[in-house]
Amino acid sequence: MPYRAPVTDYEFLMDKVVGFKDVAATEKFAEASPDVVSAILSEAGKMCEEVMAPLQRPGDLHPARLENGILRTSPGYADGWKAIAEGGWIGMSGDPEYGGMGLPMTVTTAVNEMMSAACLSLQLAPLMSQGQIEALEHHASEELKALYLPKLMSGEWSGTMNLTEPQAGSDVGALTSRAEPNGDGTYSLTGQKIYISWGDNDFCENVCHLVLARLPDGAPGTKGISLFLVPKYIPDENGNPGVANDLKVVSLEHKMGLHGSPTCVMQYDGARGWLVGQEHKGMAAMFTMMNNARLGVGGQGVGAAEGAYQHALAYALERKQGKTPSGTIIDHADVRRMLMDMRADLFAARGIMLANAAAIDMAKATGNADWAARAALLTPICKAFGTQTGMRVSETGLQVHGGMGYIEETGAAQYYRDVRVTAIYEGTNGIQAMDLVGRKMMDGGEAAARLLDEIEDHAERARATVPELAGPVWEATETLREATEWLAAQEDMNNRFAGAVAYLNAFARVLGAHYHLIAALADPDGPRAKLARYYITARLPEYAGLLDQAQIGAKDLFALSADELAA
Ligand SMILES: Cc1cc2nc3c(=O)[nH]c(=O)nc-3n(C[C@H](O)[C@H](O)[C@H](O)COP(=O)(O)OP(=O)(O)OC[C@H]3O[C@@H](n4cnc5c(N)ncnc54)[C@H](O)[C@@H]3O)c2cc1C
Repeated sequence: MPYRAPVTDYEFLMDKVVGFKDVAATEKFAEASPDVVSAILSEAGKMCEEVMAPLQRPGDLHPARLENGILRTSPGYADGWKAIAEGGWIGMSGDPEYGGMGLPMTVTTAVNEMMSAACLSLQLAPLMSQGQIEALEHHASEELKALYLPKLMSGEWSGTMNLTEPQAGSDVGALTSRAEPNGDGTYSLTGQKIYISWGDNDFCENVCHLVLARLPDGAPGTKGISLFLVPKYIPDENGNPGVANDLKVVSLEHKMGLHGSPTCVMQYDGARGWLVGQEHKGMAAMFTMMNNARLGVGGQGVGAAEGAYQHALAYALERKQGKTPSGTIIDHADVRRMLMDMRADLFAARGIMLANAAAIDMAKATGNADWAARAALLTPICKAFGTQTGMRVSETGLQVHGGMGYIEETGAAQYYRDVRVTAIYEGTNGIQAMDLVGRKMMDGGEAAARLLDEIEDHAERARATVPELAGPVWEATETLREATEWLAAQEDMNNRFAGAVAYLNAFARVLGAHYHLIAALADPDGPRAKLARYYITARLPEYAGLLDQAQIGAKDLFALSADELAA
């Protein structure tokens, strides 16, 4: 079934729910008026529907491949990339000084979500470039910025991120790639990186790798890591791709899904690189790219959920089975349950994603530390809950199809296979949850408390009009506050980590209820209020069990020894 871009949903969420008006009211984003944003979203939606969605299946059936060292992308992907680049969708939030559009991340995030829904494998390519653009804008020298940013934003060149090595996955500090100074301001990089998304392609003139490596005097662990820009072709004196650098794609991974995205093993054999940021401060610079990518990957989950939902709905409207008023399965109560779960969770995850992006914009536009703390708090929740929603919704979508869901021709299974990795890459969801209860609570839970205050205030005001919805939201928020205080008081970090995933999911449930409640008030007699009622009645209550689990501590988790687990 053809993909339909949910433009009105973004408009509603931005206008009524996540406070985009405040973003557009800042001097920095004054040009992002409702008319401009609507025109951009419609244009991007059209490109997603007409150009990208038709590439979803061919990419799955004809994965990228390596032929005598040359990477060949899936059929139609080169044209897809061209359309993305020509539309300006890569440099949307990039600095206008280097050819970007300077638009708010909220708008870029909505566009990225649409591209993910249409064709996740291809969308990962511009997402990598966008992250690299942001990292270079913040940390690169003026010379590097002037040379690389315009090419990355126009899509003539593409960007990648190279962290992972066989022995250094979640533990990035264990990496062994080396960088030696050449004495002329450049460095020679040697080492192997694995799982590098879009490590090469056949549609860009150059591929620019951001590579983490250790200098000879770099301390062990994450503190001694530096970041380098390593192009496939070394730019000549005119800034055009010149001689080939000493790097290559050794092989491509065979994956469960995301077949159209080449996942590369990269070998660097003394490749020439340029330092980005300061020596030994590479992790700080890479974190700019990683935070960008975490929001983007959360959006990939939301996009996959949207695609899977539309697919399942279309099937349910056609499939005849059993006696129902309409004659199709859409009138069976259990099928309705599945569709309502999907739709209600999708709205919650999209609300969290756009609120996260809006907080990033507010932080950028105002320089206010509270907005930066809000964005930092929401990022792991957006990444983990967005991708989990992608997995759950696509799995439920498959179930709606019955046996046909298990048959590849319907495309229902592809959503599930493709989105599965989003819970793993860009920091596993477990690592995101640890970030939430660890680093993001180093303020003693203050940023979380400020957000919970806002939710309670809003619920309190909503009691007058929709007490049956506002009451449960207030109670859930208060229980979440108690759990937050309990976690923040735990000095043994393992007690926090033991309940981290449950806590993150409960937090997301409460945030989702908050956005649904705002939507219900904005559209009291419309479908959004009905969906909010369903979410608050059927989906929110999950928080209680999750918060019990969040506070069990680590003792019972370690009650069985490793030997006893194996017995
Ligand atoms: C398709 C694909 C594309 C990718 N693209 C890129 C890319 O472009 N660039 C790049 O650099 N990398 C990329 N990756 C790598 C990805 O980021 C890593 O796979 C991921 O970070 C996890 O590392 P790992 O696979 O080594 O798992 P491990 O780190 O070995 O983790 C195994 C399990 O242990 C858990 N775990 C590990 N450490 C801890 C801890 N301290 N506390 C609690 N639990 C822990 C994990 O959550 C996980 O459940 C990609 C991976 C895939 C599969």
